[in-house]
Amino acid sequence: MDWNELAMELQKEVSGQVLTREPMARHTTWRVGGPADLLVIPDTIKDLSATFSFAADHALPVTVLGRGSNVLVRDGGIRGIVVKMFRGLTSMTIIGEDVVAEAGCYLPFLARAAAVHGLSGLEFAAGIPGTVGGAVVMNAGAHGDSMGDVLVQVEVMDSSGNLTRVPAGLLQLGYRTSRLMDTGETVVKVYLRLRRDEPVEIRKRMQANLARRRALQPLNMPNAGSVFKNPANASAGQLIDRCGAKGLTVGGAAVSEKHANFIVNKGRATATDIITLMEMVRRIVWDTFQVHLEPEIHIMGEG
Ligand SMILES: Cc1cc2nc3c(=O)[nH]c(=O)nc-3n(C[C@H](O)[C@H](O)[C@H](O)COP(=O)(O)OP(=O)(O)OC[C@H]3O[C@@H](n4cnc5c(N)ncnc54)[C@H](O)[C@@H]3O)c2cc1C
Repeated sequence: MDWNELAMELQKEVSGQVLTREPMARHTTWRVGGPADLLVIPDTIKDLSATFSFAADHALPVTVLGRGSNVLVRDGGIRGIVVKMFRGLTSMTIIGEDVVAEAGCYLPFLARAAAVHGLSGLEFAAGIPGTVGGAVVMNAGAHGDSMGDVLVQVEVMDSSGNLTRVPAGLLQLGYRTSRLMDTGETVVKVYLRLRRDEPVEIRKRMQANLARRRALQPLNMPNAGSVFKNPANASAGQLIDRCGAKGLTVGGAAVSEKHANFIVNKGRATATDIITLMEMVRRIVWDTFQVHLEPEIHIMGEG
């Protein structure tokens, strides 16, 4: 396929950016991942539907991403079109206690905007470096709260470009999971209901959450947050730590010395390094505790 020619054709249909053979390492917080054949950053909902229609016409698969803060893209990259819902589709409206945000909004910005308006409910999200859309798909959460606690409904687009509103109750939101992971629908808009509180109190809680993160997480090195889900009644980080796996290294990837459930990119890690290290950690935890660790991060692309 002539990707440059296809990119030029698609660029005529969309106002957002279209990139060819774009390294995904530039679009993931782990800073690893091979090239996407085409990468589109839609500016508008119309851009998004035009991209789906183009993909259907050319029989190209589509992968939708947000900020790339919970994904591991393999070194061979992603075939077809990657739609990156970050930096485009970022409008947000706050009316009373209701918030409507497009999927590309950066979650920490939205949490801060809510605080300024004296709206509580997103304090947990101030340090989660993803998009609002990605946060709904993952049902992101922290400090005992999650998106499901404040979500009213979402607007999704299917691969034919049809828009539907789905109430939160139908999304099967659970611990880092939602039905949206299986439906292939793209979240375009998110409707939240927050609660009134004093901005000073909201900010205090937010600052406390952020300070806790700074103290416990290796935020100075590329990572993707918690690599594994917590098994029932246990902490994945504590299990890994108790196996003595902190500091375990494969190539440029290492189990963080600061937080055992984080794998950091020391500079030149490949996706293969990270996957190999993940497998080692899983094996060690299984051999020691007979506990199976399930990845929280989503692995995608070709090896
Ligand atoms: C330092 C750090 C700390 C973190 N702390 C937390 C934490 O406390 N709690 C927590 O839950 N997570 C945490 N994370 C992980 C991550 O930030 C969240 O899961 C976040 O919600 C992912 O959003 P994203 O936009 O980056 O999604 P991505 O990583 O881009 O995508 C995640 C999944 O959602 C899909 N997706 C993304 N956007 C859309 C969309 N608009 N429509 C349909 N599908 C979509 C993707 O295909 C992928 O399967 C942390 C990550 C980092 C790097």
